[in-house]
Amino acid sequence: IKKIGVLTSGGDAPGMNAAIRAVVREGLHNGLEVYGIYDGYAGLHANNIKKLERDSVSDVINHGGTFLGSARFPEFKEESVRREAIKNLNEHGIDALVVIGGDGSYMGASKLTEMGYPCIGIPGTIDNDIPGTTYTIGFDTALTTVVEAVDRLRDTSASHKRISIVEIMGRYCGDLTLGAAVAGGMEFVAVPEMEYSDEALINEIQAGITKGKTHMLVAVCEHMTNISSLAKKVEEVTGRETRATVLGHVQRGGAPTPQDRIIATRMGSYAVKLLLQGEGGRCVGLMNSQMVHHDIIDCINNMKRPFSDELWDLSFSMF
Ligand code: ADP
Repeated sequence: IKKIGVLTSGGDAPGMNAAIRAVVREGLHNGLEVYGIYDGYAGLHANNIKKLERDSVSDVINHGGTFLGSARFPEFKEESVRREAIKNLNEHGIDALVVIGGDGSYMGASKLTEMGYPCIGIPGTIDNDIPGTTYTIGFDTALTTVVEAVDRLRDTSASHKRISIVEIMGRYCGDLTLGAAVAGGMEFVAVPEMEYSDEALINEIQAGITKGKTHMLVAVCEHMTNISSLAKKVEEVTGRETRATVLGHVQRGGAPTPQDRIIATRMGSYAVKLLLQGEGGRCVGLMNSQMVHHDIIDCINNMKRPFSDELWDLSFSMF
């Protein structure tokens, strides 16, 4: 191979820039030409492709977001749209593509691979919800942001003896919520991997009050319940002032932590090395501190993400 492309797709995550930089620098280091595809699969279809040089990725390692831009582009599910995308890549003479994104982006990459165009997936999402890896780029930065917010909420909850319910991102993966609950010393945690009902949670909060707790922090993963209504119900049942805070998109921004920069750099470099070895249709992962790769189609269809029972148990014993 002589020319490779790189794109970021789906929800952005801090550390994506570090991954792009690593793909570019490792590629150039090995005599490849590297092309940036702007705005994910939308840009691939619109032929928004530009050659990247060494200095195209200067001063990006410390910045959140992705300088290539990202997009949701459902049209990519249509084969005719993907065929045009492949035509654009062929016109530029680009032999293979590195896709940095979440599981939706992996789907796009696996579909291109099935059509005979080699892609390598790099897991980039704050949600940590991708199979084939124990870590996704952006998770540590988001966790740091969430814990900082929780610490601030603890200050004011303690002063006012309030109950504070915090909605944390993660789509259908509880890792960010659970990590924040343990690191933030939060009293209750609700994650999609475990059974949940508003009533059971309210009973637990009531038990906490009986135990003598004056204020409490509750971590709830997004898509599980409406935390504004939950806060009202908690207030009605317990008689304690209760506030709901949806952290929202602040969790997606900010300078990547050193861990995210290092893992992104390792993954970006590893993806290029795989392409140089003639691999295609793979996705990169981190397992037991080592870089690993799996078949991207098998990964999406068959592999499962592990859930940390240890952290789940801790969230109870620390109560
Ligand atoms: P993420 O990659 O963060 O999971 P999305 O689920 O929005 O984000 O996926 C990102 C993009 O990947 C979509 O906008 C679409 O262009 C592409 N994509 C998602 N699912 C498929 C699919 N089944 N086939 C082809 N492309 C897909």
